[in-house]
This record gives sequence, C-alpha cells and structure tokens, in this order.
Amino acid sequence: SEKSNLRNDSRSVEAFARAKKVIPGGVNSPVRAFKSVGLNPVYMERGQGSRIYDIDGNSYIDYVASWGPLIMGHAHPEVIEAIKRTAEKGTSFGAPTELETIMAELVCERVPSVDIVRMVNSGTEATMSAIRLARGYTKRSKILKFEGSYHGHSDSLLIKAGSGVATLGLPDSPGVPEHVASHTITVPYNDIESVKLAFEKFGEEIACIIVEPVAGNMGVVPPLPGFLQGLRDVTNQYGTVLIFDEVMTGFRVGYSCAQGLYDIKPDLTCFGKVIGGGLPVGAYGGKRELMELIAPSGPIYQAGTLSGNPLAMAAGHATLSLLTPQVYELLERQAVRLQLGFESNARKHGIPSTINRVGSMVCPFFTETTVINFESAKTSDLERFKAYFASMLDLGVSVAPSQFEGMFVSAVHTDEDIDATIEAHYVALGRL
Ligand code: PMP
Repeated sequence: SEKSNLRNDSRSVEAFARAKKVIPGGVNSPVRAFKSVGLNPVYMERGQGSRIYDIDGNSYIDYVASWGPLIMGHAHPEVIEAIKRTAEKGTSFGAPTELETIMAELVCERVPSVDIVRMVNSGTEATMSAIRLARGYTKRSKILKFEGSYHGHSDSLLIKAGSGVATLGLPDSPGVPEHVASHTITVPYNDIESVKLAFEKFGEEIACIIVEPVAGNMGVVPPLPGFLQGLRDVTNQYGTVLIFDEVMTGFRVGYSCAQGLYDIKPDLTCFGKVIGGGLPVGAYGGKRELMELIAPSGPIYQAGTLSGNPLAMAAGHATLSLLTPQVYELLERQAVRLQLGFESNARKHGIPSTINRVGSMVCPFFTETTVINFESAKTSDLERFKAYFASMLDLGVSVAPSQFEGMFVSAVHTDEDIDATIEAHYVALGRL
C-alpha cells in the first residue's frame, strides 16, 4: 500500500514542480528537497501534537520536529495561545518590549554560564555573532571547529561542515573566500589529542573553539568522557574563548542544556531551535565581561530589525515554561524505548546498526562501527538509509531525509506513537 506521496500523481509532486520554477531547488533550505534520498519532498499542510499531515491527506508520526524546535509537538495549545495573544497587540515595534527581558531572565536563570544574553533571529546569526565577539575580545583571527559539525552557514563556519552540506557532499562551499577559510582550523570530533596539537602550533592565534557539546549534524554523536573538559582546559590555558553551540542541544537534552548534563561551563553559548518554540529565534550569551563588548555597551557590532520579535519571544517563553524537569524525564524514557526497540529490530533482522542517543536525540546509523566522529558516521550504508527512509515515510513515520541527522522525540509522542514507530522500523528493516 504505497502512500500517495510516493506516487507521481501526488499533490506534492505538483507542488514541488511549481516551486522549482520560482525557488532555488524548490526549497528555502536544502535538505527539505529530499535530493540525497532521491524522492519528491512531501508538502505539509498542518501539524498537531506528534503528527504532521501532508497536502494529500496522509499523516505521519513526526520526528523531524521542524529540525528540533518542536519539543512540545506541533501547535501546542499554550504556545499557539501565547502567539495569538501577543499578535493581537502588534507584531513588531523596533522598540524594546518587556517580553524580551522576561525571556532573557528565563534563559539566564536556566543556564548558569549565561549572565546576559542577546536575541537574534537564527542559529546562524548566533554563531556568527559569537565568533565575531570571540575574535574582537581576543584580538585573534583563527577559530577551531570540528569536522562534520554544523554551525550555520556563515563563511568562517562553512568548512568541513555537517548537516545538509555533508548530506549533499559539499563540505567546502564555493563563495567562501580563501583568506576567510584559512582562518578556520578543523579537527576530528572527540579527538582531544588533535586539539592539543593544533594549539601547540597555533594556540596564541586561536580566538575560539566552537563545538556542539553533543554533535547533532553528523547524526547524533555524544562527547566521549573527558572531551568537553579537555576543551575547557586547553582554552583556559591559551586564553581562548570556548563557545558551546547549543542551537540543537539547548533546552533539548536537558533543563540546563548540554552544559548542565556534562557539567562544563563554556564562556559563550549559542541557542536556536527550542528557544524559539517554532518561530525564528537564535540567541547568544555568556560571561558578562565578554557580552558587554557587544554594541551598544561595547564596540563589537551586531544588530537586527526583528531581533527579540514579540511573537518569537512569546512562543519561546511559552515553550521554555512548559519544559519542567519532569518533561525531560518523560523525553528520556520515550527516547530510551525507541533506542531499545530499534536495537532489538536490527538484531532480529541481522542488520548492522549502531543507535546513538543523548536525551531525546536519537540516531540509528546503518553501521556496526562505534560512531564517535564524522569518519565513523560515514561508514554507514547510505544506500540502506535511502531505502529505510522511503519505507518509513510510506509507513507513516517522518524522519530527517539524511543519515547525518538525528530524530527528535517530543514530549507529546505517546506510548502508542513510540510502539508504532518501533513496528514501522521493524517492517522497514525487513524490506531492506
Ligand atoms: N548550529 C547548530 C548546532 C545547528 O544544528 C544549526 C541548524 N541545524 C545551526 C547552528 C544553524 O541554525 P539556523 O538553521 O537556525 O541558522
């Protein structure tokens, strides 16, 4: 019973053909095009709770969650109500509102390393601005990032990047000037020895290390014991700024983010996704001494017409307010069930598989290799992933169309959703 979205007479096929005439590749963000899995993208009409509905009327249990933000599910009544209530008073003023302060207070309260925080409109802006700040503060040019990590699409960070760039095999993008790229040092994730070597060579020139404390853009890769502490030690030693990019992990893997989970204090933290509750938000914050260098209190410039937008603040605040410690316990429980179910399915079918998980981020890799970095993630069988993805979609489960992305469990996935997903995974593996 092939779903109509996989047939060439579906409305999604028509919608994509129309879009391609007026939007590059038909989409406003590359991975949405399903290019690497060789399928027509599915056009969505609405979402409710754990489910999304396409324009042909098919429904899916959703683990894309808008690529992370929707930790409370689609159209959560309290989030929608907050947006509505706020919208009725106007959508943007270009003047400060108290909602921005309330939101900043909430973030500072939950994340102990954040004394003070600036709102922006995307994760890309957050990381780009944090790097500018680190460079301005240290008066150094080089930055260090990890292979297969994605930190948005600003020039300095589009070097050996993960996520869509990895999926499409475009790790070094045209359009990034050589002199910009030459300031970015990349080393393998989880490899503290390579970090130390890079610092022995360039330490006095390195403004910052930017790291996903749990890598989520090469699939999900947890930090090995001691890795994050190692980064903290080496940056302390060299007067380098340690930036945690928690755009994906922030308020996703725990109440106080990944830094709470692993008990490491970065100098700066970048946020996005969950902090906006499904509206376009990013943020960066950290030590007062650094953050006060940002204009207008300091000379390092960063601004935004719609930054701190009332609707976005309302959605973010409503979402964070729903995220009690109990919600994280629930997320953990459901994600563990998913992981164990997938592991058992793979064993039953004899299919090489490694399931990585941190909190509600889950990633089934089609490899037997332990996945600790981009190299090992790439040992996955991408042809198998393609077939698996198509089957899951056909069976009514929406996962990201790439082996190098994780699944996001939400607080509204029910026991039945999880059971149905494990069952679909079993059937999908059986078809391989
Ligand atoms: N950093 C990380 C860790 C991310 O996962 C992403 C987006 N997937 C970004 C930065 C960029 O965020 P945005 O897409 O909102 O610009």
